[in-house]
Amino acid sequence: MAERLIGAIEAGGTKFVVALARTDGTILAQARIATRTPAECFPEVVAFFEQSAAAHGAIGGFGVASFGPIDIDPASPAYGTITTTTKPGWRGSRYHHALGRFGVPIVVDSDVNGAALGEWTLGAGRGCTTLAYTTVGTGVGSGVVRAGKPLMGFSHFETGHIPIRRDPAVDPFAGHCPFHGDCLEGLAAGPAILARWGHSLSDQPDPARIDLIGGYIAQLAVSLVLLHMPDRLVFGGGVMKSPGLIEAVRRHTEAWLAGYIQAPQLDAGLESYIVAPGLGDQAGITGAIALGRQALAEGK
Ligand code: ZN
Repeated sequence: MAERLIGAIEAGGTKFVVALARTDGTILAQARIATRTPAECFPEVVAFFEQSAAAHGAIGGFGVASFGPIDIDPASPAYGTITTTTKPGWRGSRYHHALGRFGVPIVVDSDVNGAALGEWTLGAGRGCTTLAYTTVGTGVGSGVVRAGKPLMGFSHFETGHIPIRRDPAVDPFAGHCPFHGDCLEGLAAGPAILARWGHSLSDQPDPARIDLIGGYIAQLAVSLVLLHMPDRLVFGGGVMKSPGLIEAVRRHTEAWLAGYIQAPQLDAGLESYIVAPGLGDQAGITGAIALGRQALAEGK
């Protein structure tokens, strides 16, 4: 029997990356499709998979790493459905509906869990049993992968909204989150930084500001260490590209932990424990292919 191929989708706010891949990860065809309404972009997604499958071979399963909020519970009747988004037309749309005509298993996870899985599989988390991946960009989110499986509860984690200890005498900014004010996302995500200073950290990498934001992100790093005891922490996303920020996160994390956690994983200075992503922009589609591998296994 011919090899069954993987259909992979990385669905982001501005674009879909779609790929047809072999189980070993080799990409046979890839395309970018602008994110518009589902009625506009799903037919293009389906056409890509129909055409590439006709050229290369039949699809045996789909892996989808999508923006959300999205139902990622395989036991839920709404599995694969976008839930409370404000993006026009997307609320209630379901990947299983869009891809149903292929008649193969579909595994859906969040975009952050997808990127975490990508980094665990082929990026900066290679060799780890447990990896915590965090993106700090337009929003903040974390995926924790253990032995190839992104962890979840009744839904994906929402680490962007953890409470943060903030000293109003040092930082009077009340925060930018419409729900919580000064949660992590309200203090350290890109829009919060813009609202507070009128420019990004990369544009004006003032050391005191880098240190302040690094201290907030480090509070999440400390929480991830204490809750999950990961072998490594990866921090990516647009804000993390600010010069000196990852160093500030390492410095504050080490200070907060205060020597309480003693393990060979935590090197002095945390330079090999808290790292940048290894895959860059490829993490999402790599993760979607890994999810597709799980879908293939389900179809056997
Ligand atoms: Zn919040």
